[in-house]
Amino acid sequence: MERHKLSKSTYIRGLQCTKSLYLHKKRPFLRDKLPPEQRARFTRGHSIGELAHNLFPGGVNMAPKSPSQYPKAVVNTLDEIKKETPVIYEATFQHMKTLVMLDILTRENGKYYGYEVKSSLKISDTYLKDTALQYWVITNSGITLEDFFLITVNPEYKRKEPIVAEDYFIKTSVLEKILPMQEGIEERVTKFIALFDEPHSPRKKIGPQCNTPYPCDFRGLCWKTVPEISVFDLMHLDDNMAFKYYHKEMETPESIKSQPTENPLLQKEIDLVINNTVYVEDLLSEKLRNHQVLFLATAKPAFPLFEDAAPYEETAIAAAFPKGEFIESVVFYNKEEGNTFIRNFMAEHPEVITMEGIPEGISDTENTNILYEKRNLNLFLPELTGKERVDEIIAVMHPEITDAPYSDRFTAATAWQGLISESPEMQDDIIDGLARYAESGATAMMEIIRRLPID
Ligand code: SF4
Repeated sequence: MERHKLSKSTYIRGLQCTKSLYLHKKRPFLRDKLPPEQRARFTRGHSIGELAHNLFPGGVNMAPKSPSQYPKAVVNTLDEIKKETPVIYEATFQHMKTLVMLDILTRENGKYYGYEVKSSLKISDTYLKDTALQYWVITNSGITLEDFFLITVNPEYKRKEPIVAEDYFIKTSVLEKILPMQEGIEERVTKFIALFDEPHSPRKKIGPQCNTPYPCDFRGLCWKTVPEISVFDLMHLDDNMAFKYYHKEMETPESIKSQPTENPLLQKEIDLVINNTVYVEDLLSEKLRNHQVLFLATAKPAFPLFEDAAPYEETAIAAAFPKGEFIESVVFYNKEEGNTFIRNFMAEHPEVITMEGIPEGISDTENTNILYEKRNLNLFLPELTGKERVDEIIAVMHPEITDAPYSDRFTAATAWQGLISESPEMQDDIIDGLARYAESGATAMMEIIRRLPID
């Protein structure tokens, strides 16, 4: 069997941008480093997929041990189908050089049912597109599917022992939705595969496709001529408008300053960026004067780790705050420890400044939240222009974070989830790393406050 040229993920990549598909295949070395959020998504998808096997226990797994064994996995899957095996995991099919691996294929009363597992709470358009491709490949491989389901995470789930996969997941039939989507797949697949014979990547201007449905990992290449401070750094300018201006050669905030806008926040933001002004609003300035900084590192595990917790429930994993001349930090082993710490801290300090608020449902006490104030332009530091994520902000305000084992919330959260299963020596390293991450967050917050004109 000829090796495949397209897969589910490369097909979705091609739908997003043909240039991205071409570069991914032909110039992979030009790719940016995978952002932490996406790295975490891949790890998450993997373990949730394994849990979903419990919905249909006892299946045979067709997952190849190495990429060179994909053709063998296709042959083995067809063999298992001939043997009428009732449950197959990672059932692998190929049609027109396009390979798909279906998470679970079942045979019930002589009929076949497909199940694709997603670690999300909702069904997105992209999931439907990828399921439509799978349906196309599988049915063209000679298997009639009676129905096709997307398995997603049940938002109502609360963890109870023992863990019951049926409670955690929801199965939704998507057959009616993906049947009309079959039209055009063959044409697209043919076009995508033909692309790989071209000597150059297709010409593509940067556009909204660079961010949706996934942030493209060739931005470093395609965006290299975008000015350091550009219209894309304006939080209050929507993406479509930003691209419109950019392609009319109005690339910087300066170049759009006289464009009419009904959004007063956008106007204010443009003025602040152009004037390079450090700014803090009076009321906020007063609050910050009596502040008590509290940086919270949090995790949102797809699979809840504690009794009664919900999927993706935000849980505090570490905290840091200045005390005297030092910064103290604490790492929490479980949800209750974190919640108790936060409640006590809030009760003790009437004015608490956080980076991005307190996880929901823990404390009703008000707190000032730096990200919120920044988004609403109640504070502005020129060096934070275009920086919206906590890890980006920490990296600017406390560059030493890059030497720490965890420099962003996703790697910190992943490490914390491993805390319970690691050996004692590894646990010490994780705890140190999490403490350093939280301390860096608190240091960055203090640095922001220090640089603001508060008397
Ligand atoms: S950065 Fe944008 S234009 Fe470039 S390959 Fe990615 S999606 Fe396409």
